[in-house]
Amino acid sequence: MAEGGCYCGSVRYEISGEPINHAICYCRDCQRSTGAPSVAWIMLAQDGFSVTKGELKSVHGKAGAQRQFCADCGTGIAYINAEMLPGMVDVQTATLDAPEEYAPQMSIQLAEQIPWVKDAHKMPGFERFPPME
Ligand SMILES: [Zn+2]
Ligand SMILES: [Zn+2]
Repeated sequence: MAEGGCYCGSVRYEISGEPINHAICYCRDCQRSTGAPSVAWIMLAQDGFSVTKGELKSVHGKAGAQRQFCADCGTGIAYINAEMLPGMVDVQTATLDAPEEYAPQMSIQLAEQIPWVKDAHKMPGFERFPPME
């Protein structure tokens, strides 16, 4: 059992059960719907996900996909696709209160990865920000 929620706190949820899969997705749809180069998703049986506070709004995506988000702050929370993934739900890992407790196992949809992501680990990195002159 783990809890999570959206950025503004209107939506809270719980997950339970063993993840069926846990992947970082690089597809173009995830990029466009989140504004991020990749999204980590924990796949669970649908009854392993329950909204405990507030309500999710849905936007219909490609091929029967339903992307669910907080209507107040826009945080993407869940993905359901009754045709492609019947009985399952994907939950955005980074919305968990303790995402560090769930490590993803694979990268998927690399065919649509933004090319510069591949070398991003080679850039200079800073614990916070680069030093100011
Ligand atoms: Zn919210
Ligand atoms: Zn994706």
